[in-house]
Amino acid sequence: MSDRVLTAAPICGHGHLTAHVAVLDQAIAVLMDWYELPSLEAKIQLCAWAVRCDVSACELAEALVDGVCLGKATGCRGVVRELEQLLRELPAPQTSR
Ligand SMILES: [Zn+2]
Repeated sequence: MSDRVLTAAPICGHGHLTAHVAVLDQAIAVLMDWYELPSLEAKIQLCAWAVRCDVSACELAEALVDGVCLGKATGCRGVVRELEQLLRELPAPQTSR
């Protein structure tokens, strides 16, 4: 794949597709770990939340990974707050720790 193809994806603020995919993968891994979701369901959940928060899937992923997990101040603090509320609504896994 040429660099032109990689950078031609105008999905979000990420200049490079690699960074974009990385943050999505991280967020999906977090959901799979916290809620024991299969990866497909984690992806669907992520997209559903992105629609609810009115942001792109990767902005939501960033809010989850950087804002909720790492407690970093991200650019979209409103999204982090809304996401924390949505996380509370999601049923916890059957096997509680
Ligand atoms: Zn992105």
